[in-house]
Amino acid sequence: MGLSRPPTIKRQTSSGGVIFRENNRVIEVALISVKNGSIWTLPKGVVERNEDIIKTALREVKEETGLEGEIVAELGSISYWYYMKDENTKYHKTVYYYLMEYRSGSTEEHDREVEEVKWYPIEEALKRVKYKGDRVVLKRAREILLSQQKRDE
Ligand code: ATP
Repeated sequence: MGLSRPPTIKRQTSSGGVIFRENNRVIEVALISVKNGSIWTLPKGVVERNEDIIKTALREVKEETGLEGEIVAELGSISYWYYMKDENTKYHKTVYYYLMEYRSGSTEEHDREVEEVKWYPIEEALKRVKYKGDRVVLKRAREILLSQQKRDE
């Protein structure tokens, strides 16, 4: 029987975004695929030293999707735990998300850590994402965008 040390606990903060555009009244959002294309998720990344959460969100969305947007709303945060075996460390991670209106750039311009970037109608994006946190965030985005659409009618 192996003796195991108790894991170290660390906190980690990331931020990211739901970047959207409207095509013939259909709201589309950009998802990235990672882990050899097995997982569709929202773009995000670790908040670096000397960086605020908003700056990180804009930078990570641009790097991972090739798209630039303007922040129009806060989408709150989600939290999860994961374990890094080689560090024997449990991370308690919080990710802050922002709703961003697409302005420029193309999904071809994503960086190479990401397998693929695609625009999906928000209803399809909700079905594609694997993590519960992504679904929670996409639902918050949908609520804001649909009520905005109604107001514009
Ligand atoms: P970042 O994208 O913030 O730079 P990272 O790519 O190093 O960080 P995560 O994407 O947080 O790290 O992945 C770390 C672990 O957590 C992986 O095992 C991943 O499958 C899992 N994970 C990623 N996102 C979520 C989520 N929303 N809910 C639950 N588990 C997640």
